[in-house]
Amino acid sequence: MAKILIVEDNALNIKLFCDLLAAHGHEPQAVTDSRQALDAAREFIPDLVITDIQLPHVSGLELIRLIRADDQLKSVPIMAVTAYASLGDEERIRGAGAESYVTKPISVARFVQEVDSLLARKQPADADA
Ligand code: MN
Repeated sequence: MAKILIVEDNALNIKLFCDLLAAHGHEPQAVTDSRQALDAAREFIPDLVITDIQLPHVSGLELIRLIRADDQLKSVPIMAVTAYASLGDEERIRGAGAESYVTKPISVARFVQEVDSLLARKQPADADA
């Protein structure tokens, strides 16, 4: 079981992501207002952050940079979810510090596969600690 923080302003996507993650034995927590995401992450200490890119107030890219600059959170894996994957988007998202991204509407299989692969990558570091 992993603690997964979801930052997403769309209620249907929140429900979909939470249902999917819970069905796979994880503990999801959702934040709809990205201005509260950093505080929520510091409190929840997630094993993975899944963030929408198109967010009001603090954009997904900005949030990724804030997490990467935070002493407590900088090594938490981040998966971005974006409705528009145009040329250069992947570079911008990875450049900000996200490990992976999936495009909306999501493929359930790919979403779950990316989550599993990010969580699996995290485990050796935990074992060393
Ligand atoms: Mn959005």
